[in-house]
Amino acid sequence: MALHTVTLIPGDGIGPEITKAMRRVVDATGVAIEWEIAEAGEHLLKSEGTPLPQATIDAVRRNKVAIKGPVTTPVGTGFRSINVALRKELDLYTNLRPAFSLPGTGARYEDVDIVIVRENTEDLYAGVEFEEGSPGAAGIIDYCERAGAGTIRPDSGISIKPLSVTGSRRIVKWAFEYALANGRKRVCAVHKANIQKFSDGLFLRVAREVAEEYEGRVEFEDRIVDATCMGLVLDPGQFDVMVLPNLYGDIVSDLCAGMVGGLGIAPGANIGEQCAVFEPVHGSAPKHAGKGIANPTAELLTASLMLRHLGEPDAAAALVDAVRAVLAEGEQVTYDIQRIKTGSTEGSVGTEAYADAVIAQLQKKGQDHG
Ligand code: NAD
Repeated sequence: MALHTVTLIPGDGIGPEITKAMRRVVDATGVAIEWEIAEAGEHLLKSEGTPLPQATIDAVRRNKVAIKGPVTTPVGTGFRSINVALRKELDLYTNLRPAFSLPGTGARYEDVDIVIVRENTEDLYAGVEFEEGSPGAAGIIDYCERAGAGTIRPDSGISIKPLSVTGSRRIVKWAFEYALANGRKRVCAVHKANIQKFSDGLFLRVAREVAEEYEGRVEFEDRIVDATCMGLVLDPGQFDVMVLPNLYGDIVSDLCAGMVGGLGIAPGANIGEQCAVFEPVHGSAPKHAGKGIANPTAELLTASLMLRHLGEPDAAAALVDAVRAVLAEGEQVTYDIQRIKTGSTEGSVGTEAYADAVIAQLQKKGQDHG
């Protein structure tokens, strides 16, 4: 079996706990991986002067595949998001977030099978912002007034939302190619083009152009984001692959995660032309950090996406099957799943015990097949 070298970024908060569990489980699949540890997170600010050292970016570039735990981003003030910086630096323009039902989660919906394809580099995440009262904000307010583009209150903070033809075309194409490669039938482009005519309007126009190239092979529809949220809650079965600009993708993927059992089980991947960084949808959940109770399922399912990407589809499938089996059995689940199922966390197990149960399933399946 080929030896893969993967950059492992444990992150902070619950990151080190869930990535440790993930590593044990992936090693138990039998795939030979050399893990190269690289750091990112606010704990590096003092020692390194930055939460995202250049050495970490270089390691991902070198190995081309990384898997990470979450990292904390201060709200409102402080350094900008490490995740956003990494995605931009490596041009990881696709954020793939599958949301599918698993047995035994007690989730509200049982037959969800949606793939979210979120644009990862543009939109309100471009980081082009002007603080209230700054010369930049004043300049933009003045320009809009003079150009007749509209009046903005002088005490406004301003965030710019750029959506480009280039960025929109490549993400919509990626969604269609994914649909074709994975036997999916329909792509839905989600937008608010009725209000944001020059940004979301552009996204929709480009999506329609790209859809024409796939006519007869993959169906296409478009929906407005607010109606999409209502449609998801009423009848998620009507959705297949969804492609969205960055912010809607972020929000709608959390909504979908909630429908199938919460953030503890929602996997994800950031994919570019050169590299891929695999990470769960959830954040660093600081209030649970260091307690050994976080659910590693999202990180495990994220690892299965990574194994597929590495050309190890059997190990990827075995990992998902093992997770399914443990959840279906229902005896050893983490606090979040136990609470959905019973309304209480009593009887739940910790991160490591859950990982042990998944490993035991992998070994059992291995013996059955052996
Ligand atoms: P969060 O996802 O960290 O946590 C929200 C809640 O979801 C938690 O309080 C917890 O109840 C539950 N949860 C999340 N992951 C869980 C798990 N594995 N097991 C069990 N329960 C889990 O969201 P937040 O509180 O809004 O963000 C915390 C920090 O994480 C912020 O600094 C944010 O910027 C950052 N963040 C990082 C990433 C990333 O690194 N990719 C993604 C999202 C948020």
